Amino acid sequence: MYTMFSDTIAAISTPHGKGGVAVIRISGENAFEIAEKFIFPKSKKSFAEIKANSVFLADVKNAEGKLLDESLITIFRAPRSYTGENVVEISCHGGVLLTQNILSAAFSSGAVQAGPGEFTRRAFSAGKLSLTEAESVIGMIDAKTNAALTLAQRGISGKLRKKTEKIYGDITAVIGNIYAIIDFPDEDLERMTRDDMEAAMDSIIAELTALKSSYRTGHAVCEGIPTVICGKPNTGKSTILNLLAENERAIVTDIAGTTRDVISETVVCGSALLRLSDTAGIHETADIVEKMGVDRSRKEIENSELILAVFDTSRPFDQEDEEVLALIREAEENGKTVIAVLNKSDKEKCFGEEKLAGFDTLTLSAKTEDRKILSDKIESKFISGDIENSNEEILTNARQYASVCECLASVVSAKYALDIYGDDIAGTELERAASAIAEMDGREVSVDVVDHIFHKFCVGK
Ligand code: GDP
Repeated sequence: MYTMFSDTIAAISTPHGKGGVAVIRISGENAFEIAEKFIFPKSKKSFAEIKANSVFLADVKNAEGKLLDESLITIFRAPRSYTGENVVEISCHGGVLLTQNILSAAFSSGAVQAGPGEFTRRAFSAGKLSLTEAESVIGMIDAKTNAALTLAQRGISGKLRKKTEKIYGDITAVIGNIYAIIDFPDEDLERMTRDDMEAAMDSIIAELTALKSSYRTGHAVCEGIPTVICGKPNTGKSTILNLLAENERAIVTDIAGTTRDVISETVVCGSALLRLSDTAGIHETADIVEKMGVDRSRKEIENSELILAVFDTSRPFDQEDEEVLALIREAEENGKTVIAVLNKSDKEKCFGEEKLAGFDTLTLSAKTEDRKILSDKIESKFISGDIENSNEEILTNARQYASVCECLASVVSAKYALDIYGDDIAGTELERAASAIAEMDGREVSVDVVDHIFHKFCVGK
């Protein structure tokens, strides 16, 4: 944990640009002293006399005493504020120059520029929110879909924090019991039996396993699924990309091999977000430009989680299709999700699903059909449950997922150790598990991790 911050920080909290109102926020031990140097309440009261959480009208002036604006001022007294510190919020007219000038007045009065996410970082340090709740604040600001917004709101409400606190409590209860057995073997303490400990670990394992699987949905909703569309030339890859992207960004043409580069798009499929790249096809070719595309395509498949493999059923299944098949078979073995798209279903069929036995297939006419059939299929592969109406805890980023995986692996080892090696090794494994979950919600976390998280915020949040 951090010591309290000595600087009083200030930043413009609203987006850069013209607007009806802008908000400048000042936070820190000296927020009121600094504010009094350039904010003059119409009531002539001193800041000490003004009630906390109240709004008042004031003249805001620069260092030379020139009036900059008449603004509404809100003050919050520590510890009852977002940051846990004294906070002054200036709601001024939303001009770019005006807000800059007011911010400069705050600087000349003793405040320093806030770094990205520094207000929320201070809130975290003051114990106002956990690290997962802070991440939900970023999620709320960054949300591109209602599903992402719902998950962020659920995170801010502390559901995930409460779950991890419970898991942490359950793990430490078993640790305490193990060390009591080791340290005071003969004392008649009220303790868990071996069966109790195993049952407790089983239930922790079940909770962690559920959290771990929730990340498939959380990742699809909040981070997006790296997706590649592959297939031999002219199967309809660009048409499918356009269908998903709902615009004509990729080049669609009858000449084989015209999609020469990888094109990236972010598209929404129901609650899932796809980070999409089209490829130049995976066939071998002598053409240098095309070849660059082909090599890139192979790499894209490696870097993707979802592969839409496109086959043109109006042409005979050939060697190039076989190559695609080999590639997606390998991809699926590596844990990737594959949808084999049997495209051009509006034309006469040369082959059908039998060629793609073992794969999840979708029969489609990208040229004539509506996007929903494709979007629904993709969504069904990643989203489980009804996001809006379920109340399950869902992991929303890779950091949380890594902590849960580490915690789970350690509890599984601890249970095994309890059987095979004895109590002390089980205790060590459980301590590792407790640390992993404590790192997730921020109780035990390195400065580097915290820096990394808060740097994703905008300045002023
Ligand atoms: P790519 O090389 O795989 O990217 O293929 P394109 O998307 O450029 O499509 C090749 C040709 O097939 C274009 O003329 C498309 O209009 C056409 N095409 C794509 N999908 C369909 C489909 O479902 N039905 C029909 N009839 N034509 C399609």
